[in-house]
Amino acid sequence: SQCSNPTGPIEATLCDYETVESVNKGLYGNLSALVHTPFFKYFQVDLYRECPFWSENGSCMNPSCAITTVDESDIPEKWRAATLSKVDASSIEKRHELPGCYYRDSDFCFLDDSKEGDYFDLSTVPERYTGYSGDDAQRVWRSIYQENCFGLSELNLMSGKSPSLVSLPDSMTDGLRTNGDDQCLEKRVYYKVISGLHASISTHICYDWLNQTTGEWTPNLQCFISRVASHPERLQYIYFNSVLLQRAVARLEPYLMAYDYCSTGTHEEDEDTRELLSNVISTAKVVGKFNEKLLFRGENADVLKEEFKTHFRNVTRIMDCVGCDKCRLWGKIQTTGLATAMKVLFELDEKTLDPKANPNLLQRAEVVALINTLHRITESLEAFNHFRGMWADLDSPE
Ligand code: FAD
Repeated sequence: SQCSNPTGPIEATLCDYETVESVNKGLYGNLSALVHTPFFKYFQVDLYRECPFWSENGSCMNPSCAITTVDESDIPEKWRAATLSKVDASSIEKRHELPGCYYRDSDFCFLDDSKEGDYFDLSTVPERYTGYSGDDAQRVWRSIYQENCFGLSELNLMSGKSPSLVSLPDSMTDGLRTNGDDQCLEKRVYYKVISGLHASISTHICYDWLNQTTGEWTPNLQCFISRVASHPERLQYIYFNSVLLQRAVARLEPYLMAYDYCSTGTHEEDEDTRELLSNVISTAKVVGKFNEKLLFRGENADVLKEEFKTHFRNVTRIMDCVGCDKCRLWGKIQTTGLATAMKVLFELDEKTLDPKANPNLLQRAEVVALINTLHRITESLEAFNHFRGMWADLDSPE
């Protein structure tokens, strides 16, 4: 039963588990091809910024934590740092600068300032078991969960009111409450996003697991059961993240279809990339049923949203404290991908999303992170299918 499928509506969305399940295989196939295209496989990031929250930064000496960079000359010129900084300069929104990174008011994450940082070929770096664990890894997770502490919503909870739900008629919020509890919706969404990401990372670790006795890479069912499946809500939050990310991709359709993916000048690549992307968007339009308009409403909505953004930005900075290069890379990509999705859902209106009005709306890194994060999430759901099969084999008599 620990490996049985969740069924019914996915809380805080207008979608159900069965729908996500039914499209996942095809979606995973399209995304797997998409993340191998030149546009989506190269990611530039500064992996070696100082941890801003504590000084001694435990580092993983295990060779499987290490990572190889790509020479900048192998990257198509138009995506290199110098060209990208030109694009930055044309952005009208105010940037808040910090050493090596910045954020704009609408951002849910810190972005690299693209003058620093190396290029990585993501198609050669699987998210898998690295051996990074112990106090250092647990401290990072603990800090991330501590960012889930919202002053304003706590106050409202104590007074029995939820700031954003309070002004909505019950018929609009019924599907958004769990067992009638009145916990602030935004806070629950925040927790789901983090816990779902954590569960997805754990799924990858257990699926691509190094058996240290035999030296073999093999799925580890026991690992998956103890870290994910024995806590059914963790599994459910992976589905939740899938819906959230797909809703963002669906909303971005005009913008993504107008984007220039060409690296060679022949436009063949551009066409291939766009075709795969259009398949992904078609699915996303079916699954991405998330009513973002139900969040951040009511009298304290603006304060709550600022608080939400600040907390999530901190999560993206905590990634600098992850003491394993490979884990840090995927941690940065996925927190940026989720932050991009939340920006698209909670911050940008239809007019802003218009590619003609706003061609520089998203940095290349945000688009690459969004798609690669969705790929990782769909991959976790595929791994879940595999584990379910292993579980069934255990159960069936010889
Ligand atoms: P942890 O996963 O460290 O969890 C700590 C505690 O959090 C648990 O004891 C539990 O109480 C709680 N918890 C666990 N899962 C959830 C959940 N889904 N929702 C809510 N609470 C939960 N290791 C790798 O091998 N490869 C990687 O690619 C990798 N990437 C990482 C990326 C980041 C950003 C971080 C912080 C760590 C990463 N790690 C990676 C380490 C890995 O996540 C674990 O920390 C490590 O495997 C030790 O696991 P653990 O069983 O002690 O529990």
